[in-house]
Amino acid sequence: MSRLQAKEIRLASRPQGEPAADNFAFATVDLPDLEPGEVLVRNAFFSVDPYMRGRMSEGRSYVPPFAVGNALEGAAVGQVVHSRDAGFPVSSWVQSLYGWRDYFIGRAQQLRIIDARQAPPSAYLGLLGATGLTAWVGLNDIANIKEGETVFISGGAGAVGSVACQLARLRGCRVIASAGSPAKIAFLKNQLKVDYAFNYREGDPREHLQNAAPDGLHVYFDNTAGPQLEAALASMRNHGRVVMCGAISGYNTPVPGPHNLALAIIRRLRIEGFIIVDHLHRMPNFLAEMIPALRAGKLLHQETVIPGLENAPAAFISLLHSGDTHTGKLIIRV
Ligand code: NDP
Repeated sequence: MSRLQAKEIRLASRPQGEPAADNFAFATVDLPDLEPGEVLVRNAFFSVDPYMRGRMSEGRSYVPPFAVGNALEGAAVGQVVHSRDAGFPVSSWVQSLYGWRDYFIGRAQQLRIIDARQAPPSAYLGLLGATGLTAWVGLNDIANIKEGETVFISGGAGAVGSVACQLARLRGCRVIASAGSPAKIAFLKNQLKVDYAFNYREGDPREHLQNAAPDGLHVYFDNTAGPQLEAALASMRNHGRVVMCGAISGYNTPVPGPHNLALAIIRRLRIEGFIIVDHLHRMPNFLAEMIPALRAGKLLHQETVIPGLENAPAAFISLLHSGDTHTGKLIIRV
């Protein structure tokens, strides 16, 4: 095998507030020859995720920060192009955490074979990947949603939110969703068929929720924190459940609040956060439900694909803003 070079994107410096193009650097590295048990993979797609913003800063979290000067990481799917592991034949599709580069060398325990005959490979980053699992675990295991309940999902047109909206509808819940643009509201209403969608940037989210759910919310699936969390708390029914999934409104600049947290006592709420890496053992149950539902046309696999490794930093920066840059899962095609 001739010596191969890989292109990768590195963290050049830690962002202060909003990330900018100069926080990223492009590099080319020589890949060594394969050792026994290793495979060479050519990435086809990789995921761009809001949680990466936390890893760009220093400080203690549930996952170590990225090191300045090192390649960034994220979920990826690609094909084995050379193999020294019998379990990973050439041409197999694999899922890894080696995104933000075009080629990489990995070992078996760092890879998972995916079945590209069941669904398009990129779906294993969105609907069938950690993104979809986050929505599924949040609704089933954390909120324990039940038929007939009213569920509000913020960030409804995004990656996790668009799966959560669909799953809650399939469970027979009444779904209210928010997003930040007219096009996303149209997507929520016309394609995801939610019962009520509102633009949280127009008007007061409290009034939207009072109109949408005069009898209150059983469940709030929180992707944003900030003003929408405050509005949802004000609309929760007694014994309601709040799933703390994400807090994107404060990732670049922390936001204070919620100022009405005492409602958790008055309304006897259960507020529970979760991190999906603690729930990866649920993947087989999740896929057993999701793949047939996708193949039966009951689920929409919504993704926005940006071509070109070199466009990943700009895509990531846009992800942390409200706007029409993407609906569903944002991925890069390498
Ligand atoms: P999305 O695809 O939803 O992309 C982010 C979206 O957030 C943007 O498109 C934008 O949508 C919205 N947004 C940006 N800024 C703001 C703001 N200031 N206020 C409100 N909304 C804003 O990302 P994901 O689906 O991948 O992630 C959604 C959330 O789930 C994130 O908070 C993420 O960190 C979290 N998450 C948590 C996991 C866990 O294990 N707990 C796992 C995966 C994700 P719009 O245009 O509609 O405003």
